[in-house]
Amino acid sequence: MVSWWDLKGRGVHDYGADNNNTVTAPEEIAKDHENKGSLLPDGQLRVHFIDVGQGDAILIQTPEKNVLIDGGERGSTAVNYIQSQGITGLDLVIGTHPHSDHIGGLINVLQLLPVGEIIDPGVVHTTKTFENYLTLIDKKDIKFTVGRTGLKRDLGGGAVMQILHPSSPSSARLNDASIVARVVFGSVSFLFTGDAESAAETEILNSGCDLTGTILKVGHHGSRKATTRAFLNAVKPEIAVIMCGRDNTYGYPHKETLGRLGKAGADVYRTDKEGTIVITTDGVGYTVKQNRNPTGE
Ligand SMILES: [Zn+2]
Repeated sequence: MVSWWDLKGRGVHDYGADNNNTVTAPEEIAKDHENKGSLLPDGQLRVHFIDVGQGDAILIQTPEKNVLIDGGERGSTAVNYIQSQGITGLDLVIGTHPHSDHIGGLINVLQLLPVGEIIDPGVVHTTKTFENYLTLIDKKDIKFTVGRTGLKRDLGGGAVMQILHPSSPSSARLNDASIVARVVFGSVSFLFTGDAESAAETEILNSGCDLTGTILKVGHHGSRKATTRAFLNAVKPEIAVIMCGRDNTYGYPHKETLGRLGKAGADVYRTDKEGTIVITTDGVGYTVKQNRNPTGE
């Protein structure tokens, strides 16, 4: 059994409840890298939904920090993209849950780039890929924080990230153990849902937190098991981004999900059709850019 317990010390007791109103000081979060390379100019936030085929990898840039949520499957697609943006270090990496289409590519990221902190749901999983990921975090002595509802991080430049889920994850339901994070920048907000399905959505709805998200990263690659009508009514997304592989064997995104997103009035963007999708905002408006041809073309 591989567990975050195997990581020796270093902030593993850093639960959200203890951190409710704290914001990590920039010098702490950026402890082991001085040069993180390219940053955004003041007053901007940019989110790259990186086309990694079937999987998730999302890069968030602010004027002060670079953050990565997931890294796609094993391989160098995500890290190559990050480096192509002139980035030489990451302040924060979130591994939403232990499935390989989310943490696999983080192995290459951790090997090649200095990382200030990792937030992970801290659930047990037994694959070689997850073991390699934890071993690398241990070897590189990266600050490891178990992400729980209420945990906050200042992303700099006025952007704040709050973890909305999980509060009590189960290793038996890894998708619903996904870290769900909301980033607020001025009047524009992003909701990142990992592979959370309807059970997690219901839990978040019941928590009564502010869920509105101008831009929604659609849960679980557009599976019909996620993105319920009730959840969409609370999020009210203007833009919905579905991250999935071209002609993936799961049939993502499912037509039921596309139907619900259409009824909710969201503009849908898909990495399998549009490739990498980049959204830039000044906290008031935003622009959406499709970068290039999707993987596999
Ligand atoms: Zn997934």
